[in-house]
Amino acid sequence: MSTEGKQIPHPTELDLEFFESITSTGALHVQQCDGCGDHHHPPRLFCPACFSGDYSFAEVGGLGTVYGYTVSHYTTERGWKDALPYVTIVVELAEGPRLVGSARGIAPEEVVLGLPVRVVPEKVADDFAYLWVEKA
Ligand SMILES: [Zn+2]
Repeated sequence: MSTEGKQIPHPTELDLEFFESITSTGALHVQQCDGCGDHHHPPRLFCPACFSGDYSFAEVGGLGTVYGYTVSHYTTERGWKDALPYVTIVVELAEGPRLVGSARGIAPEEVVLGLPVRVVPEKVADDFAYLWVEKA
């Protein structure tokens, strides 16, 4: 699956910091609390574990398992019509946070809960990257 013809969102605030940590390095990053070290996603102003307001974006390996998924058989987005049916996956990373990404190389009949996967970012703009989910 390619990014050609697909819309490119322009995130703001904490979401922008999340995507810029990825696009500036080419590697997957998630927010990490500077107070207790907890990883979390989506990014937030205060750590849900210790309430610290100090954070950075730390590189993570991208390995995880399928926590949930949906198979789309219809879309109003022109850029995704050629990909139908496609799978959108919630990945639980080894570090703990859950991310949403689009399956690449995983057919709808192959995806199951607990399937080992890897989240692979693909930079499409300075402020956005697609998060592809591939078999690990
Ligand atoms: Zn914390």
